[in-house]
Amino acid sequence: MSSDRYDAIVVGAGPAGSSAALTMAQNNLSVALLERGDYPGSKNMFGGTIYTAPTEEIIPAFWQQAPLERPVVSDELWFVDHDSAVKIGFTGLRFAKPPFNKFTALRAKFDSWLAHKAVEAGAHLLTKALATDLVYERTGLMSKKVDGVLLDNGDVLRADVVVLAEGAPAYLAQKAGMRGNMETSSITLYVKEILDLPAGKIEERFNLESGCGTNIAFIGYPTSGVVGKAGIWTNKDSISLIVGGYLNQLISKGLNPFQLLERTKQHPIIKCLLDGAKPIEYMGATIPKGGYKNIPQLYGYGILVTGDAAMMISGRQGTDLAMLSGKYAAEAVCQAKAKGDFSPDILQAYERRIDSSYFMKDIEDHKNVGNYYKKYPDADYLINKMLNDAAYEYFKTDLEPGSQKIDKIIQQIRSFQHPWKTAKDIYHGIRNWGVF
Ligand SMILES: Cc1cc2nc3c(=O)[nH]c(=O)nc-3n(C[C@H](O)[C@H](O)[C@H](O)COP(=O)(O)OP(=O)(O)OC[C@H]3O[C@@H](n4cnc5c(N)ncnc54)[C@H](O)[C@@H]3O)c2cc1C
Repeated sequence: MSSDRYDAIVVGAGPAGSSAALTMAQNNLSVALLERGDYPGSKNMFGGTIYTAPTEEIIPAFWQQAPLERPVVSDELWFVDHDSAVKIGFTGLRFAKPPFNKFTALRAKFDSWLAHKAVEAGAHLLTKALATDLVYERTGLMSKKVDGVLLDNGDVLRADVVVLAEGAPAYLAQKAGMRGNMETSSITLYVKEILDLPAGKIEERFNLESGCGTNIAFIGYPTSGVVGKAGIWTNKDSISLIVGGYLNQLISKGLNPFQLLERTKQHPIIKCLLDGAKPIEYMGATIPKGGYKNIPQLYGYGILVTGDAAMMISGRQGTDLAMLSGKYAAEAVCQAKAKGDFSPDILQAYERRIDSSYFMKDIEDHKNVGNYYKKYPDADYLINKMLNDAAYEYFKTDLEPGSQKIDKIIQQIRSFQHPWKTAKDIYHGIRNWGVF
């Protein structure tokens, strides 16, 4: 049993934790950055997009040095039925040039790189270091302050403040009573497969300029009636494929995401994109959805919660909000250090910063997404079927005037459900699919 003291301990070397550690180390605080994995990123998964503008708030021109895969120039959304697909998308070649818009990335490389930026700034990174509990100090008869963490090897690390950046499960935040248990209808579960494919084949198959990347989201067939999606990201010489959906629906339909992965890979249109690609890695993870109502207590006496643990996620964006919230938490700690006061009165500057951020508005806007799909679990299925049936009718050559064809399509769409409900399904779909 040993005991060390720091200004701050950060639990978790994901995007939130490493950004917090980096910011504090840059401000000359002594920081321990704890990671339970063998190395930062070894246990972490995402689909694959790192967004430029928010990441530059952490490390300006990061794209000149970070281990990124491809700048994303094309975004597509495919509504997929069993033998057809309606596709919408945008290709913008200006996104292939500095300062770029976003990049595909692999977390094992990206998280490692970011954690080492914190180390370069002076943070002390401890890997294979699982924090199992918080350690408290009595500050009065009825009050106590967080004063460090207990590690699984029995070591105690002490600090003026602990920043929890443990990701979606947030065991320590729950133990501290800052966050409650989430309902399965507010959680999505995804699996990911990385498939090897040579760079030239990727560019030819996805119609990409040399070095450029794409992201395709698939709604409908892959998730077998569960509200969720599949997605492809093109890396340098591999493809990331994910699929999953709302946990309550997966459970009630008796589906597991690996079945959905096989289903997606066998789809006659998607299959062509994966032809000859060899699976090299599998992983799984959860996403807290509709998190606004589940946002935990963000600060306490000597403690702050950031990133996914604090539900800082909105649509398709999570790593960026994790990094920004980590940075804001660190800034509040630096202010507290300057005042020598780590009480909630001082640390609440973090909550004020989060509340005034651009992304809090987005998180709030997403707050009813989970509730909507709890009420209408077939909303995605209906939109998808409607679109594919209408497109089939439209593109089918037959012997009738065009106006008659359009009337037929309108009738067909109306026969599914009331147009107002269709409009609502599309509105909530846009939020859930992460479009805009
Ligand atoms: C399928 C899927 C697709 C996604 N796609 C995207 C995307 O394309 N773009 C995007 O921006 N976001 C995406 N996200 C969201 C994004 O991955 C998260 O928002 C982001 O990883 C949150 O960062 P974090 O640092 O808060 O948590 P995490 O990345 O989960 O990091 C937490 C870290 O803490 C460590 N840890 C946990 N507990 C302890 C402990 N007790 N002691 C020590 N270490 C601990 C973990 O090992 C991990 O390294 C996706 C998520 C999923 C699941």
